[in-house]
Amino acid sequence: MKILTVIGNRPQFVKAAAVSRLLREHHDELLVHTGQHHDDELSAIFFEELQVPRPEVQLHIAGGTNTEQTARMLAEIGPLLATELPDLVLVYGDTNSTVAGGLAAAQANIPVVHVEAGMRSFDRRMPEELNRVLTDHLSELLLVPSVTAEENLAREAVAGRVVNVGDVMVDVSMMFQPRAKADLHALRDAGVVPGEYILCTSHRAGNVDVPERLRKLVDLLLALEEPVVLPLHPRTGARLDAAGWLDELQDADHIRLAPPLGYMAFTSLLTNARRVLTDSGGVQKEAYFASVPCVTMRDTTEWVETVDTGWNALVDLDLHSALTALGEDPPAEHPQLYGDGRAGERVVAAIDEHVT
Ligand code: UDP
Repeated sequence: MKILTVIGNRPQFVKAAAVSRLLREHHDELLVHTGQHHDDELSAIFFEELQVPRPEVQLHIAGGTNTEQTARMLAEIGPLLATELPDLVLVYGDTNSTVAGGLAAAQANIPVVHVEAGMRSFDRRMPEELNRVLTDHLSELLLVPSVTAEENLAREAVAGRVVNVGDVMVDVSMMFQPRAKADLHALRDAGVVPGEYILCTSHRAGNVDVPERLRKLVDLLLALEEPVVLPLHPRTGARLDAAGWLDELQDADHIRLAPPLGYMAFTSLLTNARRVLTDSGGVQKEAYFASVPCVTMRDTTEWVETVDTGWNALVDLDLHSALTALGEDPPAEHPQLYGDGRAGERVVAAIDEHVT
């Protein structure tokens, strides 16, 4: 069978690491990189470190508004599908690349498989939430990572078939976290020691694109009283620079700014951190897999189980709540929430079963 997979940004490269190689043992995969993340530090390094096959097609579509970017992707993917005639199209997660790949395929009557289907924050102001909902309703096979996702899709009565395969990011974490934890190079580079720093990431549009919110983020980081390692997403770096606030972070002794890191360096910092402070979706889960308590700078999350079990706290950008949550002890129990690390195998099996 010929499967055309559309990926485009950092978390999708990580997810593809759990699936692409396995998929190619059974099928022909054509990997299409939309170019949503194109710089080496957000793209090339992930293909190298995680042994994701090199994309066969590069579309070089980046920048612009979400609408413009999605429209350009549709305009490129449509003709590509007409030439390649795949048997199905595989998409991951919740980005513009996800919805563009899904919609172009559905319009060409090609079945869509959505990995990480069913996630909901119930916040339609998030571009990611629109992408999730639309892609789920376009898909024929919806591969979900959790029971919560299954329940969300049942409530929405999606037309496609839903299979709980577990979370492909667990597979990748299981493969790489032990080795990353043992290698302390990234900690040395950042000037921190295991268990005595906070690893922070922030790039959600809702936090960094609105100046008042960005200012709250800066104030929160400046108020922390322990070392903070902050690998800056280019979007966040650009917004801080434009607002004239980057210097304040650079000048703060406790904040160690870094460029966006490769997966291994980042995972080393994550697994050895005392706490993780983030607005990322993927990083909340990775912190959970690594048993590092997480404090999330949002007021909603798709990964509700991490909150229900007490390993994640939603504090939005409220300084007092953040400081309180960062001081709390981790719970005693750490249940297996998102599968056993074999989600990639189940993705391939579900695809095989669906087409036969
Ligand atoms: N990540 C990384 N280097 C960094 C920051 C994040 O390798 O400097 C990885 C992280 O381990 C996770 C993924 O990027 O697998 C998360 O991506 P991101 O936070 O950009 O996206 P989201 O999950 O919020 O959609």
